[in-house]
Amino acid sequence: MPSKSNVTHSNIPKLKYLAAYSDQIKMQINTMIEDKTLDQYLLKKYPTTHDMNNDKVLRSYVMSLKNQYIKKSAPLSQVKYDDKIHIIHNALGLHTYVSRVQGNKLKSKHEIRIGSQFKKAPEAFLAMIVVHELAHLKEKEHNKAFYKLCQSMLPNYHQLELDLRIYLTQLEYFGAIYT
Ligand SMILES: [Zn+2]
Repeated sequence: MPSKSNVTHSNIPKLKYLAAYSDQIKMQINTMIEDKTLDQYLLKKYPTTHDMNNDKVLRSYVMSLKNQYIKKSAPLSQVKYDDKIHIIHNALGLHTYVSRVQGNKLKSKHEIRIGSQFKKAPEAFLAMIVVHELAHLKEKEHNKAFYKLCQSMLPNYHQLELDLRIYLTQLEYFGAIYT
């Protein structure tokens, strides 16, 4: 990522996918938008896409990560791509937790849905989203314990989340780069 030494804070761009990041990062991304270099940054780091493009392979991918890292978490009833997920929190993904009474028992049902736009995306981004949603099986909030769990599954989780948000910014401003 290019760095700029004379960052002024008078005109911090509003970047909806990057709102939680520092002004310095936002200025850097804004420079990349102006220079139209977001695609170069992304393609250099993430040149290829995965081929897990249906619900069946997605489910086995998710289950293998779940069994490897958080075996004792709640069971998942459904894992699927969902083309209705466009927006953040969940351009990323969606973890739904449904409780309902069955007989005299309260049954919980967990589902993970991944935005269909990630059918064609680098595996690193899919992994980041899956890890995020899996961590919600144990931690509902985005707190310290949550991010610790994400990092235990994916050590470069934070960098990947930033890069994913840069990717979403690329899609918003300039469109697809993986075709
Ligand atoms: Zn979340």
